[in-house]
Amino acid sequence: MFTEPLPSTLDARKAAVRGVSVSGNLALPKMERISTLLASTEGSVEAECVFSKDEENRSVIDISVRATVEITCQRCLEPMPLELVAENRLALVADDDEAKALPERLEPLLLEDENCDLWSLVEDEIILKLPIVGYHDTAACKQTLEEYKAPPPEAGSGKENPFAVLEQLKSGNQNQE
Ligand SMILES: [Zn+2]
Repeated sequence: MFTEPLPSTLDARKAAVRGVSVSGNLALPKMERISTLLASTEGSVEAECVFSKDEENRSVIDISVRATVEITCQRCLEPMPLELVAENRLALVADDDEAKALPERLEPLLLEDENCDLWSLVEDEIILKLPIVGYHDTAACKQTLEEYKAPPPEAGSGKENPFAVLEQLKSGNQNQE
């Protein structure tokens, strides 16, 4: 559990040369893009960014994120907690040509100046991990509980024969012919 906030920006190229790592928590209300995708700003986000040079002397960031957020259950429309873990390696590039030259396993991070927006990177990782639609587990979902509570549709009407409906359908078909 990190108690300090994650720095919002860092000189990424210098950090890579020095092998700096930074970690901390982030406030969900400060992440504007993500707030439209979540049910609330309740939750917590922790992240660690490790800057280094890889074996081919590229500046890379290993980013790991652990978050608990609330999304809206698409069945009962109530908020539901969601735990996310994301890990990614990004390679710093100065332009599109450098990005194209990267091996496929590396994701480019275009940095036009030295400042790297760490909060935005963490936000990207969370957005990539969010499900397109989320549902509670069956046991936890209000919608399902209400379905269990409701009496079965035919209960109590006793005398009605379920086959009567079929008979009606059959005779209906015959009438049409
Ligand atoms: Zn639900």
